[in-house]
Amino acid sequence: MARYTDSVCKLCRREGQKLFLKGERCLSPKCAIERRAFPPGMHGKKQTFRRKTSDYGLQLREKQKARRIYGVLERQFRRYFEEANRSSGMTGVNLLAMLEKRLDNVVYRLGFADSRAQARQLVRHGHFEVNGRKTDVPSFQVSVGDVIKVVEGARSKTYFKDRTKLQQGASVPAWLRTSRSEMKGEILGTPAREDIEIPLNEQLIVEYYNR
Ligand code: SF4
Repeated sequence: MARYTDSVCKLCRREGQKLFLKGERCLSPKCAIERRAFPPGMHGKKQTFRRKTSDYGLQLREKQKARRIYGVLERQFRRYFEEANRSSGMTGVNLLAMLEKRLDNVVYRLGFADSRAQARQLVRHGHFEVNGRKTDVPSFQVSVGDVIKVVEGARSKTYFKDRTKLQQGASVPAWLRTSRSEMKGEILGTPAREDIEIPLNEQLIVEYYNR
């Protein structure tokens, strides 16, 4: 499957804001946005993040931002949009809920990883099961009532033991419940817009695809 292999920090610099794609590094002075606050590329320094942009440009940037935060390629993102559009309710909120319900995002939200990219790798390596079945597909859509657990064989790994200690007391979104000692989490409901604190204007994404 195709995937983005260039520096992810360039994606933040392109969007002119932190997208928090690298876990702890994003909160440190090493963050590329702190050190090089201009878009990437040969002429990046001549541009500014706040240059005038058309309506189309704003819609495009918002869509790209969402794709980059969740690590989804264009074709798959469009499929999410089409499904969100077919579902009842507000398309933009449906779209964000579908992105949130990806297994890699849930693993990240439950605190098993520092970033969605790391969570995706853990899922791909077969470290998680959903309702007792090993699931290594990062895009797997979880449903209400699903139980996500670290598989038996991975529980003794230092990574998960340390992670469990590190995350004691950390909170998770209201639509999730976690039991650190059991290395598991449960889906309590569908994420509502207020549960998704990511600074995205989903309406611009809807306008982008409906233009
Ligand atoms: Fe973005 Fe994190 Fe890189 Fe900073 S360190 S530019 S927030 S991915």
